[in-house]
Amino acid sequence: MDAAARDGYPQAMNDFQPPLRLRLDTAALQSNWRWLAKQSGDAACGAAIKADGYGLGARGVIDRLAQAGCRDFYVSTWAEAAALMQLAEGLSLSVFHGVRDEDMAQAANSPARPVLNSLEQVERWLTYCADRPCDVMFDTGMNRLGLAAEEAGHDSVRRLVIDTVMSHLACADEDSAMNAHQRDRFRAIAGQFPSARASLANSAGICLGSGYAFDLTRPGLALYGGIPRGEARGHIKAVATPETQIIQVRAVEAGGSVGYGATFTAMRAMTVGIVNAGYADGLYRSLGQAMTLSYRGASCPIVGRISMDLIAIQLPADAKEGDWAGIDFDLAAIAAETPMSQYELLTGLGQRWDRVWS
Ligand SMILES: *Cc1c(COP(=O)(O)O)cnc(C)c1O
Repeated sequence: MDAAARDGYPQAMNDFQPPLRLRLDTAALQSNWRWLAKQSGDAACGAAIKADGYGLGARGVIDRLAQAGCRDFYVSTWAEAAALMQLAEGLSLSVFHGVRDEDMAQAANSPARPVLNSLEQVERWLTYCADRPCDVMFDTGMNRLGLAAEEAGHDSVRRLVIDTVMSHLACADEDSAMNAHQRDRFRAIAGQFPSARASLANSAGICLGSGYAFDLTRPGLALYGGIPRGEARGHIKAVATPETQIIQVRAVEAGGSVGYGATFTAMRAMTVGIVNAGYADGLYRSLGQAMTLSYRGASCPIVGRISMDLIAIQLPADAKEGDWAGIDFDLAAIAAETPMSQYELLTGLGQRWDRVWS
């Protein structure tokens, strides 16, 4: 008999409960999507779920957004698309990064569509899947992915069966003249594909107003609680709340130091809790000053350096090992005070969190 069976501990792997969890709020996710859909006016509202749903778990996100009425989903790579199969009836999935030679075998057998970004990709798609629908990205000034505007009339492009033509805004989170410029360039391109849907706006682009919505919008960040622009403040709700378990409580004497580099010294005797999360879980060392944890409703400063898997926090004297501490993960506030963007904060969370939807 092994030790676990002898002691009566749970034996099945799925009874296993990690010491760090992400509480995920279905109602907040769906409410964010509904607000973005409303701001999109007559346009359909899709969802970017790349990078594992911005760190929240793409599988959990797609099911909940589909339930709210979302139909159009976007990932970056074919590996991400494969992880989401089988796709539920009526859902559309597109792969932003197009098709390489290495992708064709999978792409040809997938219900997902590539977003073709270059003439080379267009020719590749025509060679193997000429009669299958695809999306096409045009560059309107960002100089990242996409065909040039002049390539819209190319014979090969005209032969494609195009579901959606799209472009991407470079400066939508700022009040930049570039926004209207890109919108106008995109309008001229989209006009050459009257039977395709047209899509330009990401989260911030939706906030720029109805002139940016076209037929279909593609928010990511704001779905997950990020605030892309001031217009979204008060409408977008937090979706992800990290919590971590206190795995040791210790008394530190006056004059004792805490953590790597002994950067913190206790001025007087204090109680310190060691919680099970660190920079390998996306709680980067640079967040140390901007992020606080909480225990029994009171805020607990981080003491010393954040380690790879552990953080030390100040706790009340009667704190108990095994209790949980909350992490105040206010994306916009932390991003404002640190070098990290809201996108990096979410997508950095890593695989060790137990993702728990309510
Ligand atoms: C990631 C991405 C989006 C979503 O952008 P957010 O800023 O997260 O709303 C939309 N379109 C493209 C092409 C993207 O790469």
